[in-house]
Amino acid sequence: MLDAIIRGARVVDGTGYPWFRADVGVLGDTIVGIGDLSGLEAAHEVDAAGRVLAPGFIDIHTHSDLPLLVDGTGQSHLRQGVTTSVVGNCGNSAAPLEGEAVEYQRARIAAEHPNLDWPGGPRRMAEYLDALEEGGVSGNVLALVGHGTLRASAMGFERGAPDRRQLDKMKGLLREGMEAGAVGLSTGLIYAPGSYSETEEIVELARVVREYGGIYATHIRGENDTLFDAVAEAIRVGEEAGVPVQIAHLKAMGRHMWGSSERLLAEIEAARARGVDVTADQYPYEASATGLGAYLPGWAHEGGTPALLERLADPGARDRMRRDILEGSGDWISVYRGVGWERTMITRCQDPSLEGRTVAELAEERGVDPFDYAFDLLLENAANVGGVYFTIGDEDLETIMANPLVMVGSDSGVSAVEGPLARGKPHPRGFGTFARVLGRYVRERGVLRLEEAVRKMTSMPAARLGLWDRGILREGARADMVLFDPKTVGDRATYTDPFAYPAGVHAVFVNGRETVGDHCHLGVRAGRILRHGTAGV
Ligand SMILES: [Zn+2]
Repeated sequence: MLDAIIRGARVVDGTGYPWFRADVGVLGDTIVGIGDLSGLEAAHEVDAAGRVLAPGFIDIHTHSDLPLLVDGTGQSHLRQGVTTSVVGNCGNSAAPLEGEAVEYQRARIAAEHPNLDWPGGPRRMAEYLDALEEGGVSGNVLALVGHGTLRASAMGFERGAPDRRQLDKMKGLLREGMEAGAVGLSTGLIYAPGSYSETEEIVELARVVREYGGIYATHIRGENDTLFDAVAEAIRVGEEAGVPVQIAHLKAMGRHMWGSSERLLAEIEAARARGVDVTADQYPYEASATGLGAYLPGWAHEGGTPALLERLADPGARDRMRRDILEGSGDWISVYRGVGWERTMITRCQDPSLEGRTVAELAEERGVDPFDYAFDLLLENAANVGGVYFTIGDEDLETIMANPLVMVGSDSGVSAVEGPLARGKPHPRGFGTFARVLGRYVRERGVLRLEEAVRKMTSMPAARLGLWDRGILREGARADMVLFDPKTVGDRATYTDPFAYPAGVHAVFVNGRETVGDHCHLGVRAGRILRHGTAGV
């Protein structure tokens, strides 16, 4: 007697191989049979005729570090079929925390997650992972160590290179994170303080990651004018440190960069041809999202948030910021370039009536200059303002998606339609990424075959992360699975109405436990913390 049998599904096994019809049997947390299981019985039988059974999706790029502490059910992602999430991306992780990073994190939590009881003080990666485990999570979690977090811990928001002692401190904290089970290092090289680093610093840290067989995941130093230099830097880190490189949310930002995707992909393929293991991920939307503070030049962030707020209140500094945002300074080019205020939408701030509206619109209504409006908004919100930026071309999006080296990653934190995480107007990618690829880009636009789309969501990220027992439906693998209707699966979340679960996802199993059934979360928390380098991972 098995625990569950899913009967008659079209099995898309995650390898890219064409679908085949089969029964899939589960015992405990393991797939124990695939084929004709008509001679077997199970406590739980699922008739899957006409539906697709795939391995649970692996979201290699999330920002769920803190949201999962608020609500471990992670429904926005789970209800699309995401059974494993990687946290700690873009240089920012929940741990390890020391020094100035503690206060920075405390302020961020106060602004973004007022319900989260996460008292200040040094925080170890092992403590963070234990807290997730004790709270219970519905999906599996892997963590990266954020370089910005390391840097803020070792030297605050100081510009310039670390001295030997500061670099050793960063390495020590990174080592601690890797020992606790982190899967690698992430950078966010457009965000202070990560942006203050030189390539050599990243290479030194990536060498620590190599000792543990980890990966280097990077939000590169620029995605508009400096895109190609930034990709070259990411490849250089992989080459010099000998680590696999994951380029986050691959894109060409800004109209003046549209049409760059072929060359972008060619650079990655050329690096692979000479033996550097580089891959990338992508979310399927024409808008990006991050804090509005990312528009500001690096010098404005020096010294952290209190210093930034002083500069935002200083007319001279504002003039200089405006000039640098428009013209760049040195090698730095603002994310603003190629976006503009008319395509900059506010998603999160203290006044909910501003959410979902563009800076251009809001400034015009008040009869003020949009730069002044944006600076004031940052000032009034302690520099914590979220934004969505309409900046990516459709053609580039599809060209990048069709490339076999690019997997799917949402670049979002978990949320839910109700509860403490249902705030603001977050980018719809959190509720929609995986369902949108399957609905819009597989079924409607034909950009990908279904089997290829599933491969990009399953075996490909699994291999990247060293998850050799997940990401493929085969006997002996962990029973993370999603059952969906290929005719109706699709995203429903939009920019103005982002809190909507997807259509067509019927059941989700995590470690053999049915966690979503009949379009409901069943309250199960069978997710595991997948500690890199330990048995079973
Ligand atoms: Zn990023």
